Amino acid sequence: MVVRSDWTLRALLTHLFLRARRVARTRLEKLRLSLVYGGNKYQCSVCGSSARGFVSLRRIARGTLVRPVVVLGETIGPENYEFLNIENFACPTCGAPDKARLMAEFMQAEGLGRLQESGLPLLHFDPEQGMADYLADSPGMYLPTSWPEQRFENSFDITDLSALEEKIGGFICSHILEHVEEDSAAVAQLYKALVPGGFGIVLVPIIRSLQRNWEVEGQLSEGDRWRFFGQGDHVRIYSRTGLRNLLLSAGFTVRELGLEHFGREIFDRLALTDTSTLYVVEKPE
Ligand SMILES: [Zn+2]
Repeated sequence: MVVRSDWTLRALLTHLFLRARRVARTRLEKLRLSLVYGGNKYQCSVCGSSARGFVSLRRIARGTLVRPVVVLGETIGPENYEFLNIENFACPTCGAPDKARLMAEFMQAEGLGRLQESGLPLLHFDPEQGMADYLADSPGMYLPTSWPEQRFENSFDITDLSALEEKIGGFICSHILEHVEEDSAAVAQLYKALVPGGFGIVLVPIIRSLQRNWEVEGQLSEGDRWRFFGQGDHVRIYSRTGLRNLLLSAGFTVRELGLEHFGREIFDRLALTDTSTLYVVEKPE
C-alpha cells in the first residue's frame, strides 16, 4: 500500500512537472516569437495575425530547400522561382507559406463565394500549413486529401479521380504536379472531377527564365533530383508557358493573377515577391 501511494505520488509529481515544463515552454516560445516577429508591418491572411517579419525559409528544414539547381549546365539560384519569398516565407503563428497567404486572399475575395453558389466541395491536395484550419468551414464541404500517404479520411490519388466525376466545385493543387510523372493525366483527372463552371488553383515550381519545362531523361538518383530540380522527389521544374499549355490542353481556361490583379497594398501586406502569380483555372460551362 505504501509502495503504491509512493508510486502514485511520484507519477503525479512527474505529470505536474512535465505539464508545468510544457506550459513554460509554450509561453517561452510565444514570448520568443513575439520578440522576434511581433509587429504590424505584415499580416497573414490565413490566421489573421500581424508580424514585423515572416520566418525565413533558410531557418526551415535546415535551409535544405534554399538551393540552386542546374539546368542545362547552368546554375540558377532559388531567387529565380516565380513565387517564393525566401526571407519572408512562413507565418510565425500558423506556419502558412507565402503561397497559402495569396491563396487565402483569393478564396476570401472570390473562391469561397463561388463554392457557396455551387454548394459543392473543395478538394485540396496536401493542405499547406494553416490552410486546413482556414478552409475547414468552407461552404459546400472541405475535402483535404493526400496521396500516397493517406493522412485524411477521404484520400484520392490525383491520377485517378473517377469517383469524383463532376462532383467538385473547386480544387487547390499546389506543389503536387512536379511530383507526378504523368502530369497531363493528373490534370485531365482534375478537369473531369470539376463541375462545369468550377474553378481550381494550380501552383508548381516555376523558373521564369525557362523557355520550356525542365526534365531529364533516364533513371535519376535522389541526389540527381536534388541537383536538377531542387528536391529529391521532384521530376521537373516548369516554365510559365509549360504550365499554361498543360492546363489549356486539358480544356481549362487559365487566369494568371499577380500583382496587377491583387494590387500593391495586398502584396506588401502579405510579404510577396513582385512576380508571385496564382494560376486559376476554370472548366467552361
Ligand atoms: Zn498565419
